[in-house]
Amino acid sequence: MIELRGKAVADAHKAVLSERLAELQAKGIVLSLGILLVGDDKAAQMYARFMEKTAKNAGFGVELEHLAADASEDEVLAVIDRWNRANQIYGVLPLMPMPAHIDREKVIERLDPAKDIDGLTSRNIGLVSAGKGGFWPCTPRACMAILDYYKIPLAGKNVVVVGRSQVVGKPVALLLLEKQATVTICHSKTVDLKVHLQRADVVVAAAGRAHMITGDMLKPGATVIDVGINDLEGQTVGDVEYASAVEVAGAVTPVPGGVGSVTTVMLLENIYEAYYARNVDC
Ligand code: NAD
Repeated sequence: MIELRGKAVADAHKAVLSERLAELQAKGIVLSLGILLVGDDKAAQMYARFMEKTAKNAGFGVELEHLAADASEDEVLAVIDRWNRANQIYGVLPLMPMPAHIDREKVIERLDPAKDIDGLTSRNIGLVSAGKGGFWPCTPRACMAILDYYKIPLAGKNVVVVGRSQVVGKPVALLLLEKQATVTICHSKTVDLKVHLQRADVVVAAAGRAHMITGDMLKPGATVIDVGINDLEGQTVGDVEYASAVEVAGAVTPVPGGVGSVTTVMLLENIYEAYYARNVDC
């Protein structure tokens, strides 16, 4: 059984990215990320600090705007507008949740799609779905980066994606389809998940249900990408019961230490992609 650790994947991507950034820095070019935080949500604040530190360490510039919980929707949209116009900003990250009086969809759709590095806007979703560029959301990209790094064959393979959310399930299914896999998407209304899983050479679990997939549900030798992050009696666990899965599967991502450790570097890569699309790829 191979443990598909995310760190090795993240390190390989970071090394390529830092070379590219060093080339730009030698020309005096610094790519900046705008992080917008509104209100007092603890998780959003922690993520903002984490992203600020990670992006700076990687060599990006960071502008962090923290608006008070009673900031008006117009004030929030004004920050987005300012960053949409700012040349040095290549990516904008509006952190959720925002206070209830702010319309989340309005904020997202106000983003310039060319700076929407988390692939949230309808335009980006349309572009990636049509295979016409745009930014893929980071978690699906992280799944694909792991499969690619560990050279897991996909063409002609049966792949089951568990979960159909807009940020994980649907986009990862499309990416797998592009790699010529035969993709089945299962969800909360799927009848007899086990029947589907037992035919799967590759499973991507993204349901957000602790330990819902156990070893007896898997095909022997299957590759399992566990996207789930769940709290189970104070412990962070995936959607896959790791202990029983490793007895059957050929390769499994651990939680934590799997998909989650690759997503941030995917976001940073998208900032570079935004630079490339604006300045080079014309
Ligand atoms: P979501 O709640 O938006 O979607 C969950 C999906 O799972 C739905 O489509 C639902 O139909 C399906 N589902 C729920 N119960 C099911 C069941 N019993 N059987 C089959 N399908 C079922 O969640 P999301 O935002 O897509 O996130 C999914 C999980 O991935 C969560 O645990 C989340 O924390 C995690 N996540 C991890 C990362 C990462 O970086 N590792 C990033 C994003 C999300």
